[in-house]
Amino acid sequence: MWNPALETMSREDCREYQLNRLQEQLQHAKDNTEFYNEKLSDIRPENITTMEMVTTIPTTTKSEIRNAQQLGDGLYGNLLAVDTEAIISYHQTSGTTGSPIRQSDSLRDWEWWTDCWATVLWAHGVRPEDTVFFPFSYGVFVAFWAAHSAAKRIGAQVIPGGGMSSVQRVEKIADLNPTVVTLTPTYAFRLAEVAAQEGIDLRASAVDTIICAGEPGASVASTKKALEDLWGAQVYDHAGATEAGAWGFSCSSDDLGLHVNEARFLVEVLGPDDEPVSPGSLGRLVVTPLNRYAQPYVRFELSDRVRLSEKNECECGRRYRFVAGGVLGREDEFKTVNGTLLSPRTVEDIVHGFDGILNEFHVQIKDHPEKDLDTIAIAVESDQNHDYSTQRISRQLRKELRRHTHLTFTVNVRQSGTLDRNTHKSNRFSDLRQRRAQYRQ
Ligand SMILES: [Zn+2]
Repeated sequence: MWNPALETMSREDCREYQLNRLQEQLQHAKDNTEFYNEKLSDIRPENITTMEMVTTIPTTTKSEIRNAQQLGDGLYGNLLAVDTEAIISYHQTSGTTGSPIRQSDSLRDWEWWTDCWATVLWAHGVRPEDTVFFPFSYGVFVAFWAAHSAAKRIGAQVIPGGGMSSVQRVEKIADLNPTVVTLTPTYAFRLAEVAAQEGIDLRASAVDTIICAGEPGASVASTKKALEDLWGAQVYDHAGATEAGAWGFSCSSDDLGLHVNEARFLVEVLGPDDEPVSPGSLGRLVVTPLNRYAQPYVRFELSDRVRLSEKNECECGRRYRFVAGGVLGREDEFKTVNGTLLSPRTVEDIVHGFDGILNEFHVQIKDHPEKDLDTIAIAVESDQNHDYSTQRISRQLRKELRRHTHLTFTVNVRQSGTLDRNTHKSNRFSDLRQRRAQYRQ
């Protein structure tokens, strides 16, 4: 059961609790799935008694899961730990990095998802007196289904917002007075734009809490501040994945980042040598959901880049470990441009903190037409509420981008509303290089 008291366990108690759960999970996966029975044949769960021993267990990649499903029988291949009659829900990943992974959940797993999201919502201040609006078309993706269940578990009122236009959604916010809205940062910007066009003042609405998911924007300082200014509400972040579950959430602390839900997840941050990196260093995220039943995962490689904070206890009272700055990007999102590593998030932070332009932007990386070089261009939109000249924006933005990325951008300043808007998740970076494919990540 969901138990907020676990959040203040001492580090020692937490470790012991996690290792006990991990042993159970390993045994369950080995005993009940063909996939892990084979993969973990050399692993004896009762011997995994320290965190050092955990690194002897092989990790599981997305492509292994995908192959197991494509080559095996039925929808889920040899990954199922229960009879198919026990499955109550089907979801799938978006498949942005390959064909989608199918995710089965039993009733017990759905309880687990609900517990995980209740932890997120509770940390973000959601209580029975709140009304939570989900401006999202619920579909085959797990996004917000579990959040919906969890809001009900807490006792809050839920307003489903699927099957509506953006205009209808901002009208619902004005009419029904929800106090909490849950959506992607991209869509939070979009709804704010639509509200302004419709003459609806979101700052005067009852919304006091925005819970973001799906993109890391709410842990980017300038994005968070821009959203808080537009909505007049506190903005919180959450991170999760279809396979791993809702593993991280921000809190009331001023530090940007995410607590790991350590009652439900064993989270490791590994370096290139597959050994844990020390707090403060960048590494990749490996997650084991500790109570995932129907389709278990052991040491699942998420490929998100994160940095564990050195702080042991948070001002919010939790002792769960803290991922400083949230998810810093997926490994495949980082680009090498003219030999320099570029983080899309750095560009987002600069654009969203820059006066005189709107929040939408697009970046294109191309081959130089003549030289053996890359070119990088950014298109932004001028904000009519500011009186800055196009030349001034262009010059200053180029300077700011060069200072933080060490790259020279071509800056194109356009009129507001001329760039394409994505409804939920943005893909603001296009890499159109052909010649220098070897430099691409
Ligand atoms: Zn905290």
